[in-house]
This record gives sequence, C-alpha cells and structure tokens, in this order.
Amino acid sequence: MEYHKVWSKSRRELFLACPRWWVIRYGLNQANWDQSKSQQWHSMSDIRSHWDLMLRSCKQTIFERLEDLQMNVEWSPLFTERKIRENLNEKISQQQKILSMHEVIGTKKAIDENLKLNDIDIEYLIKNSIKRITTLWNNDFIQALVSRFHKQWMVFERIERGSVNGVDLYCCPDIAVKIQNHWHLIRIDMQGKKNSSFEELEAMAMVSWIRGKNNFPILANKYTIRVIAWRNGFWNQQRIESSKQKLTQSNYLIDSDIIQMQKMLSKLGKNNSFNQIPLARKSSTCRKCALRESCPGGTNLSSGIMQQSALELADLSKG
Ligand code: SF4
Repeated sequence: MEYHKVWSKSRRELFLACPRWWVIRYGLNQANWDQSKSQQWHSMSDIRSHWDLMLRSCKQTIFERLEDLQMNVEWSPLFTERKIRENLNEKISQQQKILSMHEVIGTKKAIDENLKLNDIDIEYLIKNSIKRITTLWNNDFIQALVSRFHKQWMVFERIERGSVNGVDLYCCPDIAVKIQNHWHLIRIDMQGKKNSSFEELEAMAMVSWIRGKNNFPILANKYTIRVIAWRNGFWNQQRIESSKQKLTQSNYLIDSDIIQMQKMLSKLGKNNSFNQIPLARKSSTCRKCALRESCPGGTNLSSGIMQQSALELADLSKG
C-alpha cells in the first residue's frame, strides 16, 4: 500500500503517539478498503474534545486578528471576545453535524462518553482562549508588529503546501518577519509539548517549506526560527538559528519519517489487517481519541497491547 508522501508536525506527532490512529486518519482512504467502514472510522478519527476545539478556534482567531493587523485594523478586547465566541461556536456546530451522522449509525453515544462531549463549559473554554490571546498580544514580538516596528511581515495559511525531496510539506510558519537581513519564521504552538530532542529539527522544516518561495532566500543561514509555545499557563519563546547543517538533518528526519510511515502502512498487508499496527504509547492519547469503541486498546491499553502482540505473533507464524 503506497503512502502519498505528506509530512507535517501534527502527522508526525500522531504517528509517534498512536500508529493505529494515524493509519485510520491518514492511510485509510485507499480504493480497496471497505468504503463504509473506512469512511466511518475516518470521520471518527477527526472528532475532537471541546478542549481541542477551543485550541483550534483560538488559533483561528489569532490568525484573523493578525490578518486585520496587517490591514491596520486593530481589535478591541470586546471584539476579540466576540470573535473567540463565534469561532468556537462554529467549530462546535460543525462537529455536531458530523456527530449527528454518527447518531444515525449508532456510534455517537460511545464517542460522547469517551470524549465527554456532553460535559461542556463554554465560558471556561472562552476564558482560556481570552487569556491565551491577551497574553500573546503582550508578547514583545507581537507588540513590535502592533507598533509597526517591523515594516515587512506576513501571515501564512496552514493549507499552503511546500515540497522537499518529493515530499509534500504542510509546515509553513505562522508569521514571517524581515528583521535587517534575516527572515524570522514564527510558529505559535497552542499546546507546547515537553521539549523533545527533535523539536529543533521539526521547526527547521519551516525553512524547507519557505526557502526559494516567492523570492524568499535559498540560503539556510538567512533564517531564524522562533517558536512561541503555550506551556504551563505561559507563552514561552525559543529561538533557533538556522544553518545548512540543521536543514540537512531536518530533511533527513522528514525522509526517515516517510520511510517509517510507508513501512507502517505495508503492515496492513493484503487483508487490511490491523493486527500488526501498534496501539498508543500512553493511555492519555486514548482519552483524546474517538475510536476507542472499535479499538482493542480502547478500554484497557495494556491488555489491548498484549492482545495485539498475540495476534501479531499468530500472523507472523502463518508466514
Ligand atoms: S483508542 Fe488508543 S490505541 Fe486505539 S486508536 Fe485511539 S489512541 Fe490509538
């Protein structure tokens, strides 16, 4: 089974957190799958908790506010709150439409229970969003944009595609700012994970995405990366100096991820069996997953992993 070569940070994170969820989310749209099951699982794989919807709508609001700032339109706190509310409500109602389809096929109740979707406190989510956006706007870097200190900057839509070594990249920076002779590429990470040893190389993928595009420089050392990540109730900022060597290592990481992803899909075999596809590493991943009802690790991850190992051994012994 051929994996269309696509890389993004979120795909990589899901692949590492739970290969089974990743296969269902990104590998199931294949012609030889049982279409009804594949569509049902695929749609379940993108159903999110209200917390995750808050993070997505918060990011969308940040983009909209930055885009208006580029047009010299500034938002009042009241208007910001209105946009946050609008965007969150829109995300929730879009998801409810998908859930009503699951009501018809009988899978909604389990999804609601797993993701605690009946237990919603909109005001709490909005308060969280307001805190994130207000404190982000007090950040020195954003303040320099607000005060028109930097003359040349732009905001990017995440859907824009880049390419490296035949791999489609979805990893554009959120903002690019020209400061003196350098382009600063900024990523705003709504839920910064613990520092991982690969964070620098993952962030360097933004340089691969942008270099040579629309007159952006080719040379890696013409870029600086800044990751502004929400961690433990604060925005933390990390600065990474780009270099040719780091860019090569980052491209190597992308290539090796793609090879691992292709290997994973080949484990499905001719029968599209999930017996050899590993489950999540941590049960905390399962708590955010709408596929639990149909998954051997859904109720108890440890016993699901043992069950899966037995099936894998049986498959391998058949040869
Ligand atoms: S329930 Fe857990 S193991 Fe199963 S697909 Fe979801 S995250 Fe992976």
